[in-house]
Amino acid sequence: MNLDFLAEELDRIRAAGLHRRLRTFAGPQAPRAQVDGRPLILLASNAYLGLNTHPEVVAAAAAAVAEFGTGSGGSRLITGTSTLHRQLEAELAALKGTEDAVLFGTGYQANVGAITALVGPEDLILTDKLNHASIIDACRLSQARMRVYRHNDVERLAALLARERPGHRRCLIVTDGVFSMDGDVAPLPEICALAEQHEALVMVDDAHGTGVLGPRGGGTVEQFGLHGRVHVQMGTLSKALASQGGFVAGSALLCEYLRNRARPFIFSTAPEPAAVAAALAALAVLRREPERLERLRTNARKLRAGLTSLGYRVLPGETPILPVLVGEPGPALALAAALEEAGAFAPAIRPPSVPPGTSRLRVSVMATHTEADLNTALAAFAAAGRRTGVIP
Ligand SMILES: *Cc1c(COP(=O)(O)O)cnc(C)c1O
Repeated sequence: MNLDFLAEELDRIRAAGLHRRLRTFAGPQAPRAQVDGRPLILLASNAYLGLNTHPEVVAAAAAAVAEFGTGSGGSRLITGTSTLHRQLEAELAALKGTEDAVLFGTGYQANVGAITALVGPEDLILTDKLNHASIIDACRLSQARMRVYRHNDVERLAALLARERPGHRRCLIVTDGVFSMDGDVAPLPEICALAEQHEALVMVDDAHGTGVLGPRGGGTVEQFGLHGRVHVQMGTLSKALASQGGFVAGSALLCEYLRNRARPFIFSTAPEPAAVAAALAALAVLRREPERLERLRTNARKLRAGLTSLGYRVLPGETPILPVLVGEPGPALALAAALEEAGAFAPAIRPPSVPPGTSRLRVSVMATHTEADLNTALAAFAAAGRRTGVIP
């Protein structure tokens, strides 16, 4: 059999305006970045606190390589656990207000590991319509019965619980804490109350909440004061914590169970020492300088207000993720291209990452953007929006 079907499929993807290509960065993800050889204001990084270029974080990664070498040499249960790994697990538990935490190679693996270990074919999963793809994949892999509720709709969730919970052994309610493409926050207090009423487990994917929300950057659970009521707090090192790797924080019992049952923990190589040390240093800086969280929030407010006053439709919210709604893939791509011409980079997000008709530019802001950076970005948005007719 030949591979012509791949070319045909790619043609269909192109015709729908959904083809994707790699953008290449020279140097770090910083407020001013080199994208495909051009200097642009970067409005696209998940390194929200800018700790990926912090001297202390960079030095810690280098020191870990000098001390532990590159690579971790094996899975967590065989040779992949160093003193750094255990130290980071303790620090993450402290950040999340839990007894313990379990590190995985990526956030994707943490979701797959936790969900497939906790529920199976006799169980029920209730999942928000806009949950991250790694949650959806994990739910499918678990073979539990999966029911999707309308985004952040607690009434739908309550109705599903009332109707479906009785026929199942266990029930897991899983939601993003901060939704990655919409930047809004899950109604966690209501979800916890429903879970308690119906005897369900609650799991929060706080990839975008960790190091962003809450007085100490503890995430959505901290923001809402829900310690002890969310059974599974998943997070990633790859966003505000400026590194690579994922984790689950929870009770000692949960963590001990996951170390024995979560397949990506057992069958994949442990995060490398440099990544673990970088995350540890990022947590230390965050603890010492919580004002970084305030700078991030101030920058998000400024950019949101600026974009709105230019006439853009920005989805409401209080996170550093500012979705600028456009509609169809073509105009979203045109706006992104015009924005680059004008000196700023924000990616067009199209289906299947977002529902049809809601293509958008996903603008994200960093604590390290200066006032001048934000003004340059807004000027670029003004020029690009008028040129493409997205704003009057
Ligand atoms: C990025 C992300 C993940 C995956 O984390 P990685 O560490 O990049 O694998 C999971 N969930 C959400 C909501 C994310 O945004």
